[in-house]
Amino acid sequence: MAQPKHQKLRREIIDACLQMNGLGINQGTSGNISARIAGGFLISPSAIPYDRTSPSQIVPVRLDGSYQGDVKPSSEWRMHLDIYAARPEAQAVVHAHPTFCTALSCLRKDIPAFHYMIAAAGGTDIRCADYATFGTQELSDHMLTALRDRTACLLGTHGMICFGANLERAMWLAVEVEALARQYWHACQAGKPHILSAKQMQPVLEAFGFGYADHAG
Ligand code: 13P
Ligand code: ZN
Repeated sequence: MAQPKHQKLRREIIDACLQMNGLGINQGTSGNISARIAGGFLISPSAIPYDRTSPSQIVPVRLDGSYQGDVKPSSEWRMHLDIYAARPEAQAVVHAHPTFCTALSCLRKDIPAFHYMIAAAGGTDIRCADYATFGTQELSDHMLTALRDRTACLLGTHGMICFGANLERAMWLAVEVEALARQYWHACQAGKPHILSAKQMQPVLEAFGFGYADHAG
């Protein structure tokens, strides 16, 4: 049988999934990763351990939500689809359940500008989306609201999601957001962290290539 298209990208998605768990930002198969292709995206399959996933099990999903083959795409394909549809700059999406992001998401806490690196996600905070059942359109709608002018958000009582210009950048951001969540968590144990003002964040956002600052913080 002929090999399915996008062999290299399929392999890169599996490698990124393995890397995500190796980096300690995800457990088991609780996350999922995708990359944009013409007319849709390739996404990790649902509930198949990454070390047993073969390139042919990476699922092509079209932007109308249809998919080919008998391997089921990640149950979170709607969140991935909505990011690609709404954010033309997104080329890769990483969803994971990292411990500190998830802990803050269970408290339904946004991460404020307690550290200038918050600018890595495009603004002066990283919002936490309202809760909805995993895999639902309602969850994806809440996610899009939390992602407005941002490239990452927490998902209420669930985890985090982010995107980037390629798989490497999306993974970098996922690791960075978990580091920020961990730092914020620890700072909150010791007291009330100082929050940088919008004015203080403006030059940071410009340095990160985001030429604006919103009014939070
Ligand atoms: P999948 O195994 O279907 O990708 O689901 C994992 C997950 O993170 C659900 O929120
Ligand atoms: Zn999840």
